[in-house]
Amino acid sequence: MSGKIPITVARGDGIGPEIMDATLHIILEAGAPIEPEFIEIGEKVYLAGHSAGITDDAWESLRRTKVFLKAPITTPQGGGFKSLNVTTRKTLGLYANVRPAVSYHPFVPTKHPGMDVVIIRENEEDLYAGIEHQQTPDVVQSLKIISRPGSERIARFAFEYARQYGRKKVTAFTKDNIMKMSDGLFHEIFREVAKEYPDIEAEHWIVDIGMAKMADTPENFDVILMPNLYGDIGSDITAQIAGSVGLAGSANIGDHAAMFEAIHGSAPRRAGQNLANPSGLLHGAIMMLVHIGLNETATLVHNAWLKTIEDGVHTYDIARGGPSVGTKEFAEAVVQRLGEKPQQLKAVDYGKNTVGGEGGPLQKPMPLTLSKSYNPKRELNGVDVYMYNTELSPEELGKKLEELAGPEFKLTVISNRGVKVYPEGFPETFLSDNWRCRFEAREPGTATRAGIRALLERLENAGLEWVKLDNLYLFDGQLAYSLDQGQ
Ligand code: NAD
Repeated sequence: MSGKIPITVARGDGIGPEIMDATLHIILEAGAPIEPEFIEIGEKVYLAGHSAGITDDAWESLRRTKVFLKAPITTPQGGGFKSLNVTTRKTLGLYANVRPAVSYHPFVPTKHPGMDVVIIRENEEDLYAGIEHQQTPDVVQSLKIISRPGSERIARFAFEYARQYGRKKVTAFTKDNIMKMSDGLFHEIFREVAKEYPDIEAEHWIVDIGMAKMADTPENFDVILMPNLYGDIGSDITAQIAGSVGLAGSANIGDHAAMFEAIHGSAPRRAGQNLANPSGLLHGAIMMLVHIGLNETATLVHNAWLKTIEDGVHTYDIARGGPSVGTKEFAEAVVQRLGEKPQQLKAVDYGKNTVGGEGGPLQKPMPLTLSKSYNPKRELNGVDVYMYNTELSPEELGKKLEELAGPEFKLTVISNRGVKVYPEGFPETFLSDNWRCRFEAREPGTATRAGIRALLERLENAGLEWVKLDNLYLFDGQLAYSLDQGQ
């Protein structure tokens, strides 16, 4: 090897090859000691029969270099093709999605001239676990999974990111007024981790009003931490209102590898015409340079890019009818400005190189100390039995289940779509065919698995059809499950 840092590079589809060539040209001219290894991904690979759009050789390179600079790809129309982004993210465990959204006023039009926020989105959990079931003809369920280690890892990542990039505040968005357990855990862990970073301000907003404020006065935010779904939506909002969807880059970071890209797609209609703006991918590449410890090259490239934008050298998408240059000419203009700094826009400084040393803090696995020290006493307290029922009224079902509950359990509540319907439900409540029947131990924490099996057998013998179970636990003596609306 040449002593250079190997990185895996995919030139992608559509405008991908042009913007990748431009990006590599700029960072190599800036002196980045990298050795690109090119892999084939995307449309051709899909059409050759690899349903995930990537080959085994490509995985070998990715696992070895651990750094992936990826141009956008075209996902062929029609079924059977899996999203390459989701596959890469899940296979390599890229748990943190980082998306800076910056406005470049007055050079790129925006309603938010002072905007400079970074969204940190948890990338693996939440509703994106993709665990869905149709339980009954009426009801489909999607599981929202939030884990303690997953929340700790991403919260630490957000604070480490803030420190590494000299940011002052981390704001978490959750909906823990409604999802008290899942979003509540994410929030609680955020609060705990924040205590270890007294130099960084921590705040929390309920996601609805938080996002409204973010869209209205983004200059009041700095780093924003969100669970997966809110982060997906929120990061598109911030990119759009910064006025720079075509300029934004994104990093996906895990303990074993990291992937860097533009947030836009392969824009097939613009392909092969030397029109596309390479800036989004270049911003992804700048994040990559910092990630691999080439901070000084990142500073050099980023400042040259800012100066280029400031000098009015724009590709068609941001020229808005004014004079514009092509992809190659834009890249050349950035190369010519290497060593220069912007006059009006804020210059960046990523500090000294860390390559050869220990690497930046974001390259290391985040310690999971809070999760590891959590060891609650667990006691079985009962079971929620979901039943398919289209015949019995709430009263009839309730009376029948009370008889079947047996000596170990009492039927405490029946709910339908989360609303209590027995005892004492309201006739106005809409009833689906899916009923959640809660059996709790007569003495707290004394339920047994054998007791649950016997209960299920009694239900079946009485001609009732159960479709799903959730065990009910006490954790350190506290109810580890939610109450129903109206309970
Ligand atoms: P797109 O982002 O490719 O294009 C949207 C619009 O923005 C188009 O008008 C396009 O011309 C313009 N645009 C995008 N990037 C530009 C650039 N760098 N310079 C100048 N103009 C640019 O979105 P789309 O049209 O919805 O999707 C096209 C293809 O890209 C689809 O096959 C889609 O699946 C794929 N896609 C890939 C990724 C990825 O690989 N990460 C992300 C999104 C979409």
